[in-house]
Amino acid sequence: MRPNEAVEVPALAARLEELKRRAAECIEASSERLAELSREIWSRPELAYEERHAHAAMTRFFAGCPSPTSPAAAWSVQRNYKLETAFRADWQWDGIPGEAGQVLPPIRVGFLCEYDALPGIGHACGHNLIAEVGAGAALGLKGALENIRQSSAAGPARQAPAVQVTVLGTPAEEDGGGKIELIKAGAFDDLDVVFMAHPSQEDAAYLPDVAEHDVTVKYFGKAAHAAAYPWEGVNALDAAVLAYNNLSLLRQQMKPTWRVHGIIKNGGVKPNIIPFYAELEFYLRTPSLRELSILTEKAENCFKAAALATGCEVELKSGPNEYFNVLPNKSLEKAYIENGKKLGMDFIQDDNLNGLSGSTDFGNVSFVIPGIHPYFYIGSDALNHTEEYTTAAGSEDAQFYALRTAKALAMTALDVIFKPDLMEKAKEDFRIVRLKEEVDLNRSEHGKGSGLGIGAACASR
Ligand SMILES: [Zn+2]
Ligand SMILES: [Zn+2]
Repeated sequence: MRPNEAVEVPALAARLEELKRRAAECIEASSERLAELSREIWSRPELAYEERHAHAAMTRFFAGCPSPTSPAAAWSVQRNYKLETAFRADWQWDGIPGEAGQVLPPIRVGFLCEYDALPGIGHACGHNLIAEVGAGAALGLKGALENIRQSSAAGPARQAPAVQVTVLGTPAEEDGGGKIELIKAGAFDDLDVVFMAHPSQEDAAYLPDVAEHDVTVKYFGKAAHAAAYPWEGVNALDAAVLAYNNLSLLRQQMKPTWRVHGIIKNGGVKPNIIPFYAELEFYLRTPSLRELSILTEKAENCFKAAALATGCEVELKSGPNEYFNVLPNKSLEKAYIENGKKLGMDFIQDDNLNGLSGSTDFGNVSFVIPGIHPYFYIGSDALNHTEEYTTAAGSEDAQFYALRTAKALAMTALDVIFKPDLMEKAKEDFRIVRLKEEVDLNRSEHGKGSGLGIGAACASR
């Protein structure tokens, strides 16, 4: 141990707490602008890849975000970043060189903002609040780091890494998977760690969001007069009904954590014409990619069997992107929980978990970079994807909880930057969990050739 370490560590801890307070103050000072941003997105709900108004509101927000110290230090904003309704805002902090002038490698922190809505029921998933939380956390972190520069030598440590703060606007979470397209386009390549938070009914550092495969099934039969000579026809609706029933029977042998749900999108045109075309759309979900490949194979057999039984041709078309399960990151979650508790968050216990959640394109992000996707209470017991939740997400009450979540994320980012080893631990957690997933997938013969291989999947699908 070096002689100065005994005083250095408590000093670091005290200064880190000071910085966290400063981040929270900055977020509080911007509360009106943040609420306005959230309200603007909420009041003009837009579907996946059509979030033009939200994109304009977000980029205006960062373009008009001057630094208290100098205009040159304001955000650099890239509109239409790699996707029409995605954006990127960056701000750099130079860090503090060591006594010999040596500079530590920079830490590149990303905050993700979603802002798409649902058809018919608007912001029923509260993505306006995700946008607000991401923006608020980024402002908080920037404010805290600027404070170090303002108070010259009063940094949190004798030496501090340079920091790149990036806000990524990620469209189309509800449909399509904008983050997956952004991964393919390299938007995450120059980031070290990412943070976002999703509105829910409770505060949770991690919920097991599951992997998802979407499939459209098309049956091609042959039209005929349904009364005069039905034997001339090949009934595509019969194939669709059989497939639906095959899957319903399969459910008895499915794991309790698997989900299969679908609709008949096209079931013919008129009762007196034997349906020559029918179409189904199904979502398949499981806790891991390995299980998803097994379920996909079973479901595909159900679809093909129905075609064989009826004499139809069948065409299976996968959705544009697979959503991966969200990988945990224990070190980052622990830091987030510690910060959240200090702010009064009441985290649910593991054994209170419902066991299964939805799916998110953050799952794919969690396979390429360490990060967290915690859930936060918004002051209402309403459930996501309901009209009641839309009301709650646009309410005054939600603001307190959104700002609190932004503070907890900014504080956790400060931990990553200034706590010795936290970034390394987060990277190690990421490496181990991802490797486990990869080994698991490769040991399954079902995983081979299914198109769900992680190596291929992360870069391009
Ligand atoms: Zn949703
Ligand atoms: Zn959502």
